[in-house]
Amino acid sequence: MPMPEFRLYNTLTRRVESFAPADGHTVRMYTCGPTVYNPAHLGNFRTFLFEDLLRRTFRLVGWQVEQVMNLTDVDDKIIRKAAANGENILQVTEPFTALFHQDRRYLRIEDAEIYPKATEHIPEMIALVERLVANDVAYVAEDGSVYFAIDRFADYGKLSQLDKREVKAGARVAQDEYAKENAQDFALWKSAKPEDEATGAAWDSPWGRGRPGWHLECSAMAMKYLGETFDLHAGGIDLIFPHHEDEIAQSEAATGKQFARCWCHGEFLLTDGTKMAKRVGNVTNVVGMREQGISGTAYRHFVFSAHYRKQLNLGEESLDQSRAAVNRVGAFARRLAEATAATPVLAEAATRAEQLFLDALFDDLNAPEAMAVLFTFITEANRELDAGGTDTAALERARAAFRLMDGVLDLVPEQETDAELGAWVEGRLIARREARERRDFAAADAVREELTARGILIEDGPSGTRWRRG
Ligand code: AMP
Ligand code: ZN
Repeated sequence: MPMPEFRLYNTLTRRVESFAPADGHTVRMYTCGPTVYNPAHLGNFRTFLFEDLLRRTFRLVGWQVEQVMNLTDVDDKIIRKAAANGENILQVTEPFTALFHQDRRYLRIEDAEIYPKATEHIPEMIALVERLVANDVAYVAEDGSVYFAIDRFADYGKLSQLDKREVKAGARVAQDEYAKENAQDFALWKSAKPEDEATGAAWDSPWGRGRPGWHLECSAMAMKYLGETFDLHAGGIDLIFPHHEDEIAQSEAATGKQFARCWCHGEFLLTDGTKMAKRVGNVTNVVGMREQGISGTAYRHFVFSAHYRKQLNLGEESLDQSRAAVNRVGAFARRLAEATAATPVLAEAATRAEQLFLDALFDDLNAPEAMAVLFTFITEANRELDAGGTDTAALERARAAFRLMDGVLDLVPEQETDAELGAWVEGRLIARREARERRDFAAADAVREELTARGILIEDGPSGTRWRRG
């Protein structure tokens, strides 16, 4: 099968470009992770799913992936929460770190290779600040905070194209922080306040007790695990400025080398037209979704129904539609597994689907198009399986094509556990008995059909109705 060229939109150049890892084998990627002080919401997970799609697509090209996702476990919000609870920051962040991984697994987001925590990399961060001070692009303020001087780094603004937006350094920002030389200089290191000390969020440094700034954390950990120059840096679109701009400034001003070769940003998830965000108060999280009986695969389907560079709105019925769609994929997966042979036409459909699927994903990660290819294939394959046939090789081709596509999209819903299924069946059997008691045989037959459709066979006997999986 001819492999199309892999292309990706690069925020640095504002163009879709050919992309490949520098060494030709392993994509080294850094993805900004969650701040672990409350549950990540579905908007955050839209971004993490886009990154999951990226890494799975890279493997489809034949590359290996080395992904780092940091966990921000020290910042203003965490400290505020710890102080309010009379706890230390670890007591705040530990349960939400565990919840993040639990939610992530529910959504089948593959494990990154490394999940470094900010608090475990303080020496690396201090070393980076020392380099910046030595290079004279950072200065120490009177209180022991250290700032990055943006006007001493010529490339400042290249990612967000700040100069084009005419909000160049300090122009319209009130000079309210006297410690800084320039209002837009950002903190690399923040001198400790009493509540930092009280919550365990202060460390020794050459500039006195303090804690790292958020941007510094990502630069230090990215370079530690991926090298001074690596292939790809991704995150949500709100991180372009200032977070990623500042990461570039700190890293490139220290090393003199390009930091990330390519930058990739996912668009927002909206709820009823507004960005999903904690401070807007319109957030849904994975636990809430789970309680409504919506599978992780349904959310994957919903997220992949829009291109990652387009906004996506979560409405009332969006997830219901996705639930129906993944049930269709699940039923097809079972049918394909149970089939014994097919028609030769199925082999052709499978090969065509694979090719179109790669074309779509390799063209700047066009997930909606790739999903459309999968669903067209399901329709064609169901038709061919209905037609019978004796070609076992064609069936194997179809299975391989489905494995390839579902290996990336991962849409086959979990089979219910025996306990869940059992509870549901018992409920339906009660409804059937009640229908029979009132001599409503049409309703009773409808329940039997409902059970048959889910693969449940029932048998009436002297001691009641027994059931088993068909
Ligand atoms: P945070 O925990 O706030 O640092 O965010 C973690 C990730 O989620 C970042 O990459 C953000 O850009 C991303 N993010 C935040 N809100 C949304 C949203 N409504 N839609 C998509 N991504 C988001
Ligand atoms: Zn970051």
